[in-house]
Amino acid sequence: MSEPTPSAPLFDTIALLGVGLIGSSIARVARKRGDLARRIVANARTEATLRRVQELGLADACEIDPARAVADADCVILCAPVGAYAALAEAIGPHLKPGAIVTDVGSTKQSVIRDILPHLPENVHLVPGHPMAGTEFSGPDAGFAELFEGRWTLLTPPPGTDPEAIAKMKTFWQRCGATVSVMDANHHDRVVAIVSHLPHLIAFTICGTADDLADETRQEVLQFAASGFRDFTRIAASDPVMWRDIFLNNREALLEMLARFTEDAQAMARAVRWGDAAYIEDKVHRGRKIRQALIDLNQA
Ligand code: NAP
Repeated sequence: MSEPTPSAPLFDTIALLGVGLIGSSIARVARKRGDLARRIVANARTEATLRRVQELGLADACEIDPARAVADADCVILCAPVGAYAALAEAIGPHLKPGAIVTDVGSTKQSVIRDILPHLPENVHLVPGHPMAGTEFSGPDAGFAELFEGRWTLLTPPPGTDPEAIAKMKTFWQRCGATVSVMDANHHDRVVAIVSHLPHLIAFTICGTADDLADETRQEVLQFAASGFRDFTRIAASDPVMWRDIFLNNREALLEMLARFTEDAQAMARAVRWGDAAYIEDKVHRGRKIRQALIDLNQA
C-alpha cells in the first residue's frame, strides 16, 4: 500500500515569540510533521535560550529582536507569559507582513485581545488560542511533540475575524493532534478559571500553608507526604512568572470562582463541624463521578 500523500505546509514561515515548554513543543511537532510550516523562526528574551534552541535544532533561524523575527512570518505565535504580550505586540505591530495571522497560546484570553489587538495593522488577523495541555516544567528542553495529542485547543477570535484565518488555525492545531473548539474569550476565561486557575491557586496556597507550619511539622509533612499533598506539590511547582501573569490577567473570573469555592468550602466545614455525614459522603461521591467522567472523556 502506498504512503498517504503528505499535505503541503500550512504556512511558509512561523515565528515563535517564546520557545519554552509550549513554544518548543510546537517547534517539535512542526519539525516532526513537516506540514505546519516550511520554516521556523524563534525568538526569546535571552540569548541563552536561543542558543539552546539552536543546539536542539528547533528552528531555522533565531532572532533576539522580536520585530526582526516576525518580518517574514505568515503566522506569528506568542508563546511567552501573558504579561509580556502588550510589549511584544507593540514591538512587532509595525513589522508584521500584510495578511499574516497573529495567534498565541496564553492561558487567559480577554487580556490577550486587550493587549494585542490595538497594536495590529488592519490587514493582520488575530486568532487567539489556548492549548489545554502542559506540565509543571519550563524552557526549551521541557517540550515534546506529543504534548497536544488528544488535548483541547480553544480558539477565541474576536467578533468579525476572517473565517479563513480561523479555519487555518483550526487545521494547525488539528495537525498538532488537538481537538479544537471556538468560543468567546469571556466564556473561555470563566471556564479556565474553574478548571485550571483556581486549582493552581489552591495548590500554591496549600503548599504555603504547610510551609508556614513549625519546622518539626514541616519535616513530617514532607516525610509522610501522602498522595493528596504530593499531587498539590506537582501543580505548585509551576513557573512563578507565568502564574503571576495568569492570576493578574484573569482577575475577575478567578475571584468569582474563588468566592464560589469559598462558600462551598464553608458548607463542607459546617458539615464536618456538625457531623453531617450524608453531606460529606454526597460530596465525595460527586468528586468520584467527576473523576470517572474525565477518565471516560480521555482527559484524566
Ligand atoms: P516557559 O517554558 O517559561 O517559556 C516562556 C518563553 O517566553 C521563554 O522562551 C522566555 O524566554 C520567553 N519570555 C519570557 N518572558 C518574556 C518577555 N518578557 N518577553 C519576551 N519573551 C519572554 O513558558 P510556557 O510554559 O511555554 O508558557 C508559555 C505560555 O503558554 C504562557 O502564556 C502560558 O500561560 C501558556 N500556557 C502554558 C501552559 C503550561 O502548562 N506551561 C499550558 C497552556 C498554556 P527566555 O527563556 O529567554 O526567558
